[in-house]
Amino acid sequence: MSGELPDVLAAFEEIAPLGAVARFERGSLRSDGGHLQGVGVVDERTLAISTSASEGAAVAMIEWPERAGFGLGRVTRHVIVGRDPFLHAGGLQITDGILAVGVEDSEAHERSSTVFLDVADPAAPALLDHLGFDRPPRGEPRVEKRWTAGAVGLARHGDVYLLAVGSWDSAQIDFYVSNLGDLRDPACRFRPVAEWDSRSADRSDWIDRSYGSYQSLHVLVEATGATFVAAGNRNRIGEDWIDLFSVELSEETEPKVVKVAKRHLTCREGASFRWAGGFVTVDGVLHAIATGRDLEPSTTVNAFVGGGGARYVVNTRTGTIHSLLDPCPYVARMTPDHLLTTNDPTAGTERCGFCFPEPVDA
Ligand SMILES: [Zn+2]
Repeated sequence: MSGELPDVLAAFEEIAPLGAVARFERGSLRSDGGHLQGVGVVDERTLAISTSASEGAAVAMIEWPERAGFGLGRVTRHVIVGRDPFLHAGGLQITDGILAVGVEDSEAHERSSTVFLDVADPAAPALLDHLGFDRPPRGEPRVEKRWTAGAVGLARHGDVYLLAVGSWDSAQIDFYVSNLGDLRDPACRFRPVAEWDSRSADRSDWIDRSYGSYQSLHVLVEATGATFVAAGNRNRIGEDWIDLFSVELSEETEPKVVKVAKRHLTCREGASFRWAGGFVTVDGVLHAIATGRDLEPSTTVNAFVGGGGARYVVNTRTGTIHSLLDPCPYVARMTPDHLLTTNDPTAGTERCGFCFPEPVDA
């Protein structure tokens, strides 16, 4: 599930400000106490979420009956992606059926491994060991918080793939490119091309000077090759923000990273970009997702629907208007032939009592 965005900035601005609430059940998966870390879309009905499970760092597949992130989902399986000492899984991104995620040592916070999982068939996720690599690179000393991998982003860039790996709170971002255009080719490898440090960065061109403690990094590439990183965080006063940075990479000079946009999003029912947060591109529309802190019997997911216009959907056969920001279970079951998405809250002849519980005239 991906698809190139013709205009990343416009897509970012079209993400809905309010999260639609869904939930999932954890099944037999148990956390070791570490919180949820990263989230991405595997297919129409499936999300992947990274966490620390009792056996190690894990990626869980969560299936929804109709549409991922709407209604009640359930953890159907999980894959261990890191074992002792790499027990802490970070933010992730899925591109062309490949999930990239960092796993860190949970005690000293001085080394990590970047792991790749083929999730093209969500029923049979498979590790791609040939792509994985450890940090620090061979010959470099371990340095606390420098070589962790709290957030990993992956996107196709022209004929190859671009990978971004964030250190602790993404204070530094290292960029890597693949040598081949097929990540499943056993000869495919990533090599480092640039590193960027937020603390020494020139912020004079930024829309503001703040740089958050980002728990997710999402690489977005336009058809022109223009490259962006979208990132989510919760600030010191408990607000959730998503920020957009343009990235110019050069092998000769330092990368140029400029903060170009920011959005304040309203999370609900315990979800936050402090926990598992992410961005997904589905059919050319950019959406954002945030989850609750911990893996619980029933865990909250917030879907921030992108695409601007569609805040409502009308069933043209019955005339009922439903909310897409806070949809009832019926919305996921509507047949495409009889639905009309709209931004007009007065469309339709009747308002759904589940989507709009308060009286219209109240
Ligand atoms: Zn409804």
